[in-house]
Amino acid sequence: MQAVVLRGMTFMNRSLFESEQELLRKSFRSWLESEVVPHKEKWDEAGIVPRSVFTSAGRLGFLGMAIPEEFGGGGQSDFRYNLVINEEIQAVGANAVGLGLTLQNDICLPYFLRYCSNEQNQRWLPGIASGELITAIAMTEPGIGSDLASMSTTARRDEDRNGYLVNGSKTFITNGINADLVITAAKTEPTQRHKGSSLLIVERGMEGFERGRNLDKIGLHGQDTAELFFDNVFVPAGNLLGIENEGYRHLIANLPQERLSIAAAGIAASRAALGWTLEYVKERTAFGSAIGSFQNSKFVLAEIATEVEIGQAFIDHCVLTLNAGSFTPEVAAMAKWWCTELQKRVVDRCLQLFGGYGYMTEYPIARAHLDARITTIYGGTTEIMKEIVGRSLGL
Ligand SMILES: Cc1cc2nc3c(=O)[nH]c(=O)nc-3n(C[C@H](O)[C@H](O)[C@H](O)COP(=O)(O)OP(=O)(O)OC[C@H]3O[C@@H](n4cnc5c(N)ncnc54)[C@H](O)[C@@H]3O)c2cc1C
Repeated sequence: MQAVVLRGMTFMNRSLFESEQELLRKSFRSWLESEVVPHKEKWDEAGIVPRSVFTSAGRLGFLGMAIPEEFGGGGQSDFRYNLVINEEIQAVGANAVGLGLTLQNDICLPYFLRYCSNEQNQRWLPGIASGELITAIAMTEPGIGSDLASMSTTARRDEDRNGYLVNGSKTFITNGINADLVITAAKTEPTQRHKGSSLLIVERGMEGFERGRNLDKIGLHGQDTAELFFDNVFVPAGNLLGIENEGYRHLIANLPQERLSIAAAGIAASRAALGWTLEYVKERTAFGSAIGSFQNSKFVLAEIATEVEIGQAFIDHCVLTLNAGSFTPEVAAMAKWWCTELQKRVVDRCLQLFGGYGYMTEYPIARAHLDARITTIYGGTTEIMKEIVGRSLGL
């Protein structure tokens, strides 16, 4: 049983982890401290992390934990390992770097593990585990985000060459510049809505596949979020992921895990913000007293500590349910909207307690505030999550 320690204060006991996950936590934390934290600012300025971050993480077993050992992975299909990595990234405020890694582990990898043929496994899994192949998933287009069924990127059959010709564009794609393998959603039956889409792996270097700008964002500065363009890109049939025209169903099957990953990051980010703020309000004084001694500060932080623990209990339950194979899209939507809205509220309230220093980007709380703003939008907006929950209520 692991106690949750917040700057010397113990709240709830978490029974979720065993010694294997705690060992991973320890080694991942020390890797973050030596290989990531000292370079965060430089990478924020560059708007991207070097590819060596992925190979370094891969070498130490922090990528592809769920990939079978025969393909170079950890052989551990247990989301608790993913959770540990997610939590440690947030604890050191390395969100921009971490998003690339969690996208690879939590969001893209399940598509490969679920839908790859044996030949595709051999071609791609070892590189995903080692970090030599960086992955991305491209659903959103300039004209659509929430309404995926209206996507206009097409993949028309090229029977002569046994493949597809992909045309269209995508935007806001995480790992968009660094990616070698892009899971690309495209219409193989453009007259259909949900039923006519497929998932194709578009690879770095394919003719007609171009990257656009590395987009200028208000937060997550070290994360390469990019536009992608497809101009008659020939994709061989061997790069179809799963079943033709079943792409939407494949997306729906994987979105709950993506949403849980974002929700878990939301709770871990809230916990980190609480920790930084507790430290600050004990040191900073006004009117001869520590800021933390004012009743308002105590009440705000008491409310936050309580909400973080409630959210944590929910996340831990969701992780066990996911591991057991019974996690549902509705519960994923609940976790996603509630935990990310909590994150937004928590970082805002914590920032207030820092006063003017909270507005200075040299303080982690300021960065956390900017980074948090996207979390209620990507992976499905709060409004869409509530639509999903609402529908499950028969409305
Ligand atoms: C930093 C970043 C990283 C991202 N990474 C990726 C990625 O890797 N891959 C990828 O494919 N996409 C990615 N996205 C895109 C992201 O998933 C979309 O921005 C998101 O799904 C919302 O789509 P949209 O921007 O088109 O907004 P829209 O769909 O245009 O929505 C605009 C507003 O309308 C509301 N709205 C829409 N429909 C309804 C409705 N039915 N009922 C009520 N309200 C509604 C929305 O909630 C929102 O408030 C990323 C975005 C950002 C900013």
